[in-house]
Amino acid sequence: MAYPLSATKLITYKQCPQAYSFKYERGLSSPSAFGSPKFGNALHGALADIYKDWNYDYPLPSLDWFAVCWQKHTGELTPAQLHEGWMALQLYYEKYVAPLTMIRKPLGVEAKLKASFQVNNIEFSLSGRYDRLDFTDDGLELIDYKTSKTISPSDGIDLQLGLYYLVLEQTYQKALQKLSLIYLRQGQKITYDVTQEHHQQVRELIGDMALKLRADQDWKPEVGGHCDRCGYQRYCSAKSEKPEPLPEGTREGRQVQLSLGI
Ligand code: SF4
Repeated sequence: MAYPLSATKLITYKQCPQAYSFKYERGLSSPSAFGSPKFGNALHGALADIYKDWNYDYPLPSLDWFAVCWQKHTGELTPAQLHEGWMALQLYYEKYVAPLTMIRKPLGVEAKLKASFQVNNIEFSLSGRYDRLDFTDDGLELIDYKTSKTISPSDGIDLQLGLYYLVLEQTYQKALQKLSLIYLRQGQKITYDVTQEHHQQVRELIGDMALKLRADQDWKPEVGGHCDRCGYQRYCSAKSEKPEPLPEGTREGRQVQLSLGI
Protein backbone atom coordinates (compact mmCIF):
# COMPACT_ATOMS: atom_id res chain seq x y z
CA MET A 1 0.00 0.00 0.00
CA ALA A 2 1.24 3.49 -0.81
CA TYR A 3 2.53 5.61 2.05
CA PRO A 4 0.22 8.62 2.45
CA LEU A 5 1.78 12.11 2.46
CA SER A 6 0.37 15.62 2.58
CA ALA A 7 1.82 19.13 2.80
CA THR A 8 1.08 19.21 6.55
CA LYS A 9 2.98 15.96 7.06
CA LEU A 10 5.95 17.16 5.03
CA ILE A 11 6.10 20.43 6.96
CA THR A 12 6.11 18.53 10.28
CA TYR A 13 8.80 16.17 8.99
CA LYS A 14 11.02 19.01 7.82
CA GLN A 15 10.72 20.80 11.16
CA CYS A 16 11.39 17.74 13.30
CA PRO A 17 11.55 14.09 12.19
CA GLN A 18 10.96 12.93 15.77
CA ALA A 19 7.75 14.94 16.16
CA TYR A 20 6.67 13.53 12.79
CA SER A 21 7.32 10.00 13.98
CA PHE A 22 5.43 10.57 17.28
CA LYS A 23 2.43 11.92 15.43
CA TYR A 24 2.18 9.93 12.23
CA GLU A 25 4.22 6.78 12.78
CA ARG A 26 3.41 6.09 16.41
CA GLY A 27 -0.04 7.70 16.36
CA LEU A 28 0.39 9.85 19.51
CA SER A 29 -2.19 12.58 19.82
CA SER A 30 -1.11 16.11 20.73
CA PRO A 31 -3.22 19.03 21.95
CA SER A 32 -4.47 21.16 19.10
CA ALA A 33 -3.82 24.89 19.09
CA PHE A 34 -6.71 25.72 16.78
CA GLY A 35 -9.77 27.61 17.85
CA SER A 36 -13.33 27.28 16.62
CA PRO A 37 -13.42 26.57 12.90
CA LYS A 38 -17.01 27.80 12.42
CA PHE A 39 -16.12 31.29 11.21
CA GLY A 40 -13.56 30.01 8.72
CA ASN A 41 -15.88 27.26 7.51
CA ALA A 42 -18.69 29.75 6.89
CA LEU A 43 -16.48 32.05 4.80
CA HIS A 44 -14.95 29.16 2.87
CA GLY A 45 -18.41 27.70 2.23
CA ALA A 46 -19.80 31.01 0.99
CA LEU A 47 -16.87 31.61 -1.36
CA ALA A 48 -17.12 28.07 -2.69
CA ASP A 49 -20.81 28.58 -3.52
CA ILE A 50 -20.16 32.00 -5.04
CA TYR A 51 -17.86 30.44 -7.66
CA LYS A 52 -19.46 27.00 -7.95
CA ASP A 53 -23.09 28.02 -8.34
CA TRP A 54 -22.70 31.22 -10.36
CA ASN A 55 -24.28 31.16 -13.80
CA TYR A 56 -21.30 31.95 -16.03
CA ASP A 57 -23.57 33.02 -18.89
CA TYR A 58 -23.58 36.31 -16.99
CA PRO A 59 -20.28 38.16 -16.74
CA LEU A 60 -20.16 39.37 -13.18
CA PRO A 61 -22.02 38.55 -9.95
CA SER A 62 -23.45 41.39 -7.89
CA LEU A 63 -22.93 41.90 -4.18
CA ASP A 64 -26.46 40.53 -3.72
CA TRP A 65 -25.21 37.17 -5.01
CA PHE A 66 -22.51 37.26 -2.33
CA ALA A 67 -25.20 37.92 0.30
CA VAL A 68 -27.32 35.00 -0.92
CA CYS A 69 -24.36 32.60 -0.70
CA TRP A 70 -23.22 33.97 2.66
CA GLN A 71 -26.66 33.54 4.24
CA LYS A 72 -26.57 29.82 3.54
CA HIS A 73 -23.57 29.42 5.88
CA THR A 74 -24.27 31.69 8.81
CA GLY A 75 -26.54 29.44 10.93
CA GLU A 76 -24.00 28.76 13.69
CA LEU A 77 -22.26 32.13 13.88
CA THR A 78 -22.40 34.69 16.68
CA PRO A 79 -23.62 38.23 15.79
CA ALA A 80 -20.00 39.46 15.89
CA GLN A 81 -18.85 36.71 13.52
CA LEU A 82 -21.78 37.46 11.23
CA HIS A 83 -20.72 41.09 11.02
CA GLU A 84 -17.02 40.32 10.54
CA GLY A 85 -17.73 37.70 7.90
CA TRP A 86 -19.94 39.97 5.85
CA MET A 87 -17.38 42.80 6.08
CA ALA A 88 -14.72 40.39 4.80
CA LEU A 89 -16.89 39.31 1.87
CA GLN A 90 -17.70 42.90 0.93
CA LEU A 91 -14.01 43.72 0.99
CA TYR A 92 -13.30 40.70 -1.19
CA TYR A 93 -15.99 41.80 -3.63
CA GLU A 94 -14.63 45.34 -3.85
CA LYS A 95 -11.04 44.21 -4.40
CA TYR A 96 -11.28 41.05 -6.46
CA VAL A 97 -14.62 41.05 -8.26
CA ALA A 98 -15.99 44.58 -8.83
CA PRO A 99 -12.92 45.78 -10.81
CA LEU A 100 -13.28 42.91 -13.34
CA THR A 101 -15.38 42.95 -16.51
CA MET A 102 -16.12 39.23 -16.10
CA ILE A 103 -15.15 36.36 -13.82
CA ARG A 104 -13.71 33.16 -15.19
CA LYS A 105 -15.05 29.82 -14.10
CA PRO A 106 -12.39 28.18 -11.91
CA LEU A 107 -10.96 24.81 -12.88
CA GLY A 108 -11.99 23.55 -9.46
CA VAL A 109 -13.48 24.73 -6.17
CA GLU A 110 -12.87 23.10 -2.77
CA ALA A 111 -11.54 19.89 -4.17
CA LYS A 112 -9.15 17.15 -3.14
CA LEU A 113 -6.17 16.07 -5.18
CA LYS A 114 -4.24 12.84 -5.24
CA ALA A 115 -1.15 11.64 -7.06
CA SER A 116 1.41 8.92 -6.62
CA PHE A 117 5.15 9.23 -6.50
CA GLN A 118 7.77 6.54 -6.24
CA VAL A 119 11.15 7.05 -4.66
CA ASN A 120 13.72 4.57 -3.38
CA ASN A 121 11.25 1.77 -4.09
CA ILE A 122 8.58 3.19 -1.85
CA GLU A 123 5.29 4.27 -3.32
CA PHE A 124 3.97 7.51 -1.83
CA SER A 125 0.47 8.76 -2.26
CA LEU A 126 0.49 12.57 -2.21
CA SER A 127 -2.72 14.30 -1.34
CA GLY A 128 -3.86 17.85 -0.86
CA ARG A 129 -6.92 20.01 -0.97
CA TYR A 130 -7.41 23.48 -2.30
CA ASP A 131 -9.95 26.26 -2.04
CA ARG A 132 -9.86 27.27 -5.69
CA LEU A 133 -7.86 26.42 -8.78
CA ASP A 134 -7.81 29.00 -11.57
CA PHE A 135 -6.61 28.56 -15.10
CA THR A 136 -5.04 31.92 -15.96
CA ASP A 137 -3.19 33.17 -19.04
CA ASP A 138 0.08 32.23 -17.30
CA GLY A 139 -0.98 28.72 -16.23
CA LEU A 140 -2.45 27.22 -13.06
CA GLU A 141 -2.93 29.36 -9.97
CA LEU A 142 -4.01 27.92 -6.63
CA ILE A 143 -6.01 30.14 -4.31
CA ASP A 144 -6.03 29.59 -0.58
CA TYR A 145 -8.38 31.72 1.57
CA LYS A 146 -7.09 32.72 4.99
CA THR A 147 -9.30 33.88 7.84
CA SER A 148 -6.65 34.64 10.47
CA LYS A 149 -6.74 37.97 12.30
CA THR A 150 -3.17 38.79 11.33
CA ILE A 151 -1.13 38.27 8.21
CA SER A 152 1.74 36.03 9.15
CA PRO A 153 4.13 34.04 6.98
CA SER A 154 2.53 30.71 6.16
CA ASP A 155 4.42 27.73 7.64
CA GLY A 156 6.25 25.71 5.03
CA ILE A 157 5.00 27.64 2.02
CA ASP A 158 7.91 26.36 -0.09
CA LEU A 159 6.92 22.77 0.61
CA GLN A 160 3.28 23.47 -0.22
CA LEU A 161 4.32 24.99 -3.54
CA GLY A 162 6.49 22.00 -4.38
CA LEU A 163 3.96 19.38 -3.33
CA TYR A 164 1.07 20.98 -5.20
CA TYR A 165 3.28 21.32 -8.26
CA LEU A 166 3.92 17.57 -8.29
CA VAL A 167 0.29 16.67 -7.67
CA LEU A 168 -1.17 19.07 -10.25
CA GLU A 169 1.39 18.08 -12.86
CA GLN A 170 0.16 14.51 -12.58
CA THR A 171 -3.54 15.45 -12.44
CA TYR A 172 -3.74 18.07 -15.19
CA GLN A 173 -0.39 17.65 -17.01
CA LYS A 174 -0.02 21.38 -16.51
CA ALA A 175 2.47 23.30 -14.44
CA LEU A 176 1.44 25.18 -11.33
CA GLN A 177 2.73 28.74 -11.73
CA LYS A 178 1.50 30.48 -8.61
CA LEU A 179 -0.06 30.01 -5.24
CA SER A 180 -1.96 32.97 -3.82
CA LEU A 181 -3.04 33.41 -0.23
CA ILE A 182 -6.01 35.74 0.13
CA TYR A 183 -6.37 37.15 3.64
CA LEU A 184 -10.09 37.76 3.78
CA ARG A 185 -10.29 39.98 6.86
CA GLN A 186 -7.57 42.30 5.55
CA GLY A 187 -8.43 42.11 1.84
CA GLN A 188 -4.83 41.29 0.95
CA LYS A 189 -3.45 38.85 -1.56
CA ILE A 190 0.07 37.45 -1.35
CA THR A 191 1.28 35.56 -4.39
CA TYR A 192 4.18 33.13 -4.56
CA ASP A 193 5.72 31.97 -7.83
CA VAL A 194 6.64 28.31 -8.13
CA THR A 195 10.24 27.61 -9.08
CA GLN A 196 12.24 24.52 -10.00
CA GLU A 197 13.77 24.57 -6.50
CA HIS A 198 10.37 24.13 -4.85
CA HIS A 199 9.56 20.78 -6.40
CA GLN A 200 13.19 19.68 -6.22
CA GLN A 201 13.14 20.33 -2.47
CA VAL A 202 10.00 18.24 -2.03
CA ARG A 203 11.46 15.39 -4.08
CA GLU A 204 14.59 15.41 -1.92
CA LEU A 205 12.63 15.55 1.31
CA ILE A 206 10.46 12.61 0.28
CA GLY A 207 13.62 10.73 -0.75
CA ASP A 208 15.10 11.39 2.68
CA MET A 209 11.94 10.18 4.37
CA ALA A 210 11.91 7.07 2.20
CA LEU A 211 15.38 6.15 3.42
CA LYS A 212 14.25 6.47 7.04
CA LEU A 213 11.15 4.40 6.38
CA ARG A 214 13.13 1.67 4.66
CA ALA A 215 15.92 1.45 7.17
CA ASP A 216 13.69 2.15 10.18
CA GLN A 217 16.30 4.73 11.19
CA ASP A 218 16.13 6.99 14.18
CA TRP A 219 13.73 9.87 13.69
CA LYS A 220 15.99 12.47 15.27
CA PRO A 221 14.71 15.47 17.24
CA GLU A 222 15.35 18.83 15.61
CA VAL A 223 15.21 21.61 18.17
CA GLY A 224 13.97 25.05 17.10
CA GLY A 225 11.37 27.73 17.64
CA HIS A 226 8.69 25.21 16.65
CA CYS A 227 9.36 23.29 19.92
CA ASP A 228 7.29 25.92 21.78
CA ARG A 229 4.20 24.66 19.97
CA CYS A 230 5.11 20.97 20.21
CA GLY A 231 2.81 18.76 22.27
CA TYR A 232 5.46 16.04 22.68
CA GLN A 233 8.03 17.90 24.80
CA ARG A 234 7.65 15.56 27.76
CA TYR A 235 8.64 12.56 25.61
CA CYS A 236 11.49 14.38 23.93
CA SER A 237 15.09 13.75 25.03
CA ALA A 238 16.18 17.03 23.44
CA LYS A 239 13.78 19.10 25.56
CA SER A 240 13.42 17.19 28.78
CA GLU A 241 16.20 15.83 31.01
CA LYS A 242 14.09 12.85 32.00
CA PRO A 243 11.72 12.23 29.12
CA GLU A 244 8.61 10.22 29.96
CA PRO A 245 8.21 6.85 28.29
CA LEU A 246 5.62 6.81 25.51
CA PRO A 247 2.17 5.84 26.82
CA GLU A 248 1.36 2.16 27.00
CA GLY A 249 -0.25 0.87 23.87
CA THR A 250 1.56 3.32 21.57
CA ARG A 251 1.96 1.54 18.29
CA GLU A 252 5.27 0.63 16.74
CA GLY A 253 6.35 2.44 13.59
CA ARG A 254 4.47 1.11 10.59
CA GLN A 255 5.94 -1.33 8.13
CA VAL A 256 6.23 0.06 4.64
CA GLN A 257 5.87 -2.07 1.61
CA LEU A 258 8.56 -1.81 -1.01
CA SER A 259 7.41 -1.62 -4.58
CA LEU A 260 9.74 -3.15 -7.07
CA GLY A 261 10.52 -0.98 -10.04
CA ILE A 262 10.47 -2.80 -13.37
S1 SF4 B 1 10.09 19.29 21.44
FE1 SF4 B 1 11.12 20.00 19.59
S2 SF4 B 1 12.74 18.53 19.22
FE2 SF4 B 1 11.32 17.59 20.66
S3 SF4 B 1 9.91 16.43 19.42
FE3 SF4 B 1 8.99 18.40 19.73
S4 SF4 B 1 9.63 19.62 17.97
FE4 SF4 B 1 10.97 17.84 18.06
